[in-house]
Amino acid sequence: MTTPSASCYHPAVPYDPSRPVLRFAPSPNGRLHLGHAYSALVTWQAAARLGGTALLRIEDIDTERCKPEFTEAIAQDLHWLGLDWPEPVMHQSQRMDTYAAAGNALRDQHLLYPCFCSRTEIAALATETDPDGAPLYPGSCRHLHRGEQIERLERGDPVQFRLDTSAAMARVGMLTYTVLGPLITDRPQIRHARPQRWGDVVLQRKGTPTSYHLSVVVDDAAQGITHVTRGRDMEAATDIHALLQMLLGLSSPIYHFHRLILDADGRKLAKSKGSPSLASLREAGWTPDDVRRAVGLEN
Ligand code: GLU
Repeated sequence: MTTPSASCYHPAVPYDPSRPVLRFAPSPNGRLHLGHAYSALVTWQAAARLGGTALLRIEDIDTERCKPEFTEAIAQDLHWLGLDWPEPVMHQSQRMDTYAAAGNALRDQHLLYPCFCSRTEIAALATETDPDGAPLYPGSCRHLHRGEQIERLERGDPVQFRLDTSAAMARVGMLTYTVLGPLITDRPQIRHARPQRWGDVVLQRKGTPTSYHLSVVVDDAAQGITHVTRGRDMEAATDIHALLQMLLGLSSPIYHFHRLILDADGRKLAKSKGSPSLASLREAGWTPDDVRRAVGLEN
């Protein structure tokens, strides 16, 4: 890859693979359910196996949907499960300047461009879907004339900033990341990342200088995270994270993708589908051991 530009973004904490640091990073937009409990328990179990530390990080960049009462409830639920973490806890909502700086580092590399398309326009134009099944952005604004970009930005048109993924990939060449199997201590495997299957992802929006993808890589590096434990539903998104890490000159953690907890119909548990919260199970008399048994983690 090319040498990162002088303004390239650097992590606050140097990556130290001999000191394992893991994290559980929920979004406080509802109550935690058994799927979250499993993810948290896997994370603390992996930290114990590796002789490392598990951190809690609150991913609350969506200030409309995230609420302080849910953040408090997350801490309560995790403590109830017997999990502890070092303070202070990182809250993404307090780190917008840091994300803006990371966005600027990509802008300096000419890898971010403004896109003025609405969801409806994208859905109408898309001919493919991304790994999550959403319409794949066809790149309509990628080559807008500079004059038109400036005019529309000055007019205050709704805008989002997208990564020019193909241009980025042309710079980094082959892209890989490292994966660990279920035992965590087993032999690592190398995966090829194919971020192109996501198209030009949105990294910043008008009024919000970040997105899930940008914040997650910036913060994993800032916290010196060496191992990321996340559900298999996030496996494909890791392609984008590997790319952003390369572009921003950030360390790349090792990944473990855990199985998902499914409901009786075989669907992933979700707040939006009304999956029972840990709080409601606790009120109904469940113990932390009942939770462990329900998610298949015997003590
Ligand atoms: N905040 C994300 C979520 O609640 C998870 C972050 C991650 O593992 O990268 O689904």
